[in-house]
Amino acid sequence: MPLITDPALGPIGEKVSRNERLTRDDALVLFNSSDLLTIGRLADVANRRANGDRVYFAANQHINPTNVCVLRNTCVFCSFARMPQEAGAYTRSLEEVFAEADAARDNPTREFHIVGGLHPKLRLAYYLDMFRGLQARHPGVHIKALTAVEVAHLARLERMSVRDVLIALRDAGVTSLPGGGAEVFSPAARATIADKKLSGEEWLAVHREAHRLGIPSNCTMLYGHVETMADRVDHLLALRALQDETSGFLTYIPLAYHPDHNELGEALGRTGTATTGCDDLKNIAVGRLVLDNIPHVKTHWPMVTPFISQVALTFGCDDLEGTVVFERVYHEAGAGTPMWLGYDQVVSLIRGAGKQPVERDSLYRTVRTFKDWASTDPGRKPGVPGVPGVRPQGPEGPTFQISHRPRARARGQRELPVLSAVDGAE
Ligand code: SF4
Repeated sequence: MPLITDPALGPIGEKVSRNERLTRDDALVLFNSSDLLTIGRLADVANRRANGDRVYFAANQHINPTNVCVLRNTCVFCSFARMPQEAGAYTRSLEEVFAEADAARDNPTREFHIVGGLHPKLRLAYYLDMFRGLQARHPGVHIKALTAVEVAHLARLERMSVRDVLIALRDAGVTSLPGGGAEVFSPAARATIADKKLSGEEWLAVHREAHRLGIPSNCTMLYGHVETMADRVDHLLALRALQDETSGFLTYIPLAYHPDHNELGEALGRTGTATTGCDDLKNIAVGRLVLDNIPHVKTHWPMVTPFISQVALTFGCDDLEGTVVFERVYHEAGAGTPMWLGYDQVVSLIRGAGKQPVERDSLYRTVRTFKDWASTDPGRKPGVPGVPGVRPQGPEGPTFQISHRPRARARGQRELPVLSAVDGAE
């Protein structure tokens, strides 16, 4: 039986075995190939070279201080944002944020992941007070906070430079930036899904500035909407070029578009899951192969399910995200996954894939290895994953409830024009 079913992958396989950089054409061949197992094997080679059998995860907690966003009506793929007076709009006081973060006291939390909407009135001081307060209350927890889009928004509000905003964030305790807001850099796709958002160039410029200041960051690509294969490739190449310049990216995370409760999903006539398991795995694998200079590739299990994420660990992925207490943004868009996983469940998923779990902090420093670890779940056999469909125990109360947006048509909003680029998406 031939090892490679798509002959076009042969020369790419030879380059991977020589540890040679892939070209734009190579990346296009990979995205257009249906020989998923070969692509996965090549990515596994590249990943093992860098990370061996280690798979990282974080004990982390997500905090979304506000869902009010000035771009609510133009980021048509987003299900999270609300206008200030819209049903479901919320903005947490600092006391409420601190109370939410207190869940960390009962968990082995090492990272707060803090992102939210572009609120027209929340000023930089609110965020600086939040970060200082969190640092004082939870000195052992890293603060990974504010996407490039939020940083640029605050710079505009305060009439400050991006650099000065970043310095203020760093001085208040932010240790790294998350990778959100990149979507896909293609101006055409961006004009359709996120017309008024920071451009790709501007997103990259914020991260460049952060890296120059010694603030590492993550990077992402949102796929499965209107983007073409060429858009995906050019996005990855832009990330790779910036990494060549700064070495500031820690990890790349492909993000699967979810179509529920947003205008784009309605215009495309999609509900449920917009991406396929094959495309989810291919995005992990091609990311690993093209981004040869970014140390880690992370699978975001709330979007693609813990099961796909577990399989991704043999498709070039070396990071299973974490406990993610409590994921709101993608569940607003219809993600059917749990809103968090127990620490044991994450470890068991990694072990079940035959890999070595490594708990990390935000900067990928080792917190714990698990050579002598035994699950605290008395009913579970060693190496057998937990049951991710079962909601584990976690915080309860109004803060942790989601009320979905009504359909756009029901609210009498404009409908999107015909989306001519849709054929490019899988
Ligand atoms: S994607 Fe971000 S910037 Fe766009 S509407 Fe949603 S929260 Fe706002």
